[in-house]
Amino acid sequence: MADLSMAHDGTPMSDSRPAAAICPLCGNDNQCAIAAGKSGESCWCQTVTISPEARAKAADTATERCLCPACGQPTGGVQNAG
Ligand SMILES: [Zn+2]
Repeated sequence: MADLSMAHDGTPMSDSRPAAAICPLCGNDNQCAIAAGKSGESCWCQTVTISPEARAKAADTATERCLCPACGQPTGGVQNAG
């Protein structure tokens, strides 16, 4: 006997994600394996070199969150991911 009384009140999407899975710099999904409940060794950040600049920015936000691939990787310029 299911009694689901769900309200359609426009719940924001960001509410469904844990804070640990959100990039502190851009607010997008950081694709962190640990946040997803997987082994940290399988995270994308283990296969790339995180930009020192990005690390500094993340530290400035005073959070323990991981960066997303777009913010964490060294870039020669901002590109539109489309
Ligand atoms: Zn980001």
